[in-house]
Amino acid sequence: MPTLTVLMNAGPWLPVPPNGYGGIENVIAALIPELRRRGVRIVLSTVGTSTLPVDDMVVTFADGQFAQLQQPYNRAAGIVAAHMHQVAQELARRPEIDVVHDHVEAWGPVVLAAGSPVPVLHTLHWDLAKHPELYGSFDAGGRVFVNGVSASQMNRAPDALRAHSVGHVYLPTPLATDADQRPLPAKGDHGVILGRITHSKGQHIAARMAHVLGERLVLAGPVGPYYRPADLHAALNEPDGVALSYPDVRYWLEEVAPHVDGDRVQWIGTVAGAERDRLVATARATLFPLLWEEPGGTAVVESLALGTPVIGLSRGCLPELVDQGVTGLLADDEDGLAEAWQLAGRIDPRACTWTAARRFTPAKAADAYLALYEQIRSVQPPTDDLLLEAPVS
Ligand code: UDP
Repeated sequence: MPTLTVLMNAGPWLPVPPNGYGGIENVIAALIPELRRRGVRIVLSTVGTSTLPVDDMVVTFADGQFAQLQQPYNRAAGIVAAHMHQVAQELARRPEIDVVHDHVEAWGPVVLAAGSPVPVLHTLHWDLAKHPELYGSFDAGGRVFVNGVSASQMNRAPDALRAHSVGHVYLPTPLATDADQRPLPAKGDHGVILGRITHSKGQHIAARMAHVLGERLVLAGPVGPYYRPADLHAALNEPDGVALSYPDVRYWLEEVAPHVDGDRVQWIGTVAGAERDRLVATARATLFPLLWEEPGGTAVVESLALGTPVIGLSRGCLPELVDQGVTGLLADDEDGLAEAWQLAGRIDPRACTWTAARRFTPAKAADAYLALYEQIRSVQPPTDDLLLEAPVS
C-alpha cells in the first residue's frame, strides 16, 4: 500500500510538544509518533521551536505566538492569517500530501474549505458555542470534515456544522499507555487544578472552597502569557500597564489571588514533564469546577492516567470521561462539589489507571484517526471551482 502523507496543522501558537501548558499541542505530540509507527508520513505545520520528530516541517513563525492570543483582534488575526496563508501555499506545491489534519480554530476550516486540493479533517477542540455565526452557517464545500473530541460537544453543535461531522475521538495522552502497569506513588493531601488560569476553569471556586473545607489546593498553569509568578509580578510592576490588558490577568487579580495565601492555596506557575506528573499523581484529586462546557479535557484524561480521581462539576465532556463513583465524583452544584472533594479518597486510583489504559491511549486515537482519514479520502471530491490549483502528481 502506498504511504499516506498527512499535513498535520498544529498552528502558530505553541511548539509541539509544548513546554508545559498546551492542550492541543500535547494531543498532537501524542498522536504523531503512533501515526508514524503505522507508516504514515507527517508534514507538521508548526513553529520553529517544535522538537517532535516528523518527516518534514512547515514553519511560519520561529517561536510560539501564544502571548499574542490575548492581544486585540487585529494583532492575533494577522498571525493566524499568515500561518494559514503558508499552509495553503504549501498544499498547492506539495503533491505528496494526501490529507490535511487541521487543528486551527475557525481560520483552519474556512481557508481549507475555500480550496484545499485534498480532503481535510478538522478537529474541533473548542466550545462550539464560541462562533455561532461561523458554525451556524459553515459550508465545507465537500472538502472539510469535522470531528469532535467528545459526544457532548458534537451534540451541542449547530446543524450546519454537524452536517460535516464524522463523529468524535477522545483526546489521548501518552500517560495512558500501560498506565495500569506502573507503580503508583503515595498520595499527598493536596488537590490540584492543572490548566490555564481563566474564569471558565473556575479556579476561584476551588480556591474559595479550600479555605472553607480546610483543604490544600495547588493551582498550576499560566495566567495569560505569564508562566511563572515572578514573571507576572514583574509585568505588573511595569509602568506600561500591558499586563492588565489581559483578561486572565484581571481574573487572577480580582477573583483568584485574594484566596491565594501561599499555604492552603498556592499558585506555582506552569509545571512540565516529570514535575507535572508527580504533582498530579500525588494529589488526592484533580478539580474541575467548570463554568463552561469543557469540550475534551486533556487534563481530565491525564489525571486518570496518573491514578488521580477527577472531582468536578458535571458539565461538558466530564460525564463521558469519568465513571461516577468509580474514577471520580461529579456534582451538580458547589455544595455537591465540596462534598465530593472530601470523599475523593474513596476512589480507587487503580480504577483510574485501568480506565485510562483502555480508553485514552495514543494508540487508540491513532487507529481512530487513520480510519477517519481513509473514510474522508473515499468521499468523491467536488469538481467545481477550486481556488487553489491541485498540484500535478
Ligand atoms: N498543562 C501543563 N502544565 C501546567 C498547566 C497545564 O502541562 O502547568 C497542560 C495539561 O497537562 C494539559 C494542557 O496543558 O495537557 C491543558 O489542556 P486542557 O485540554 O485541559 O485545557 P485547555 O486546552 O482548555 O486549556
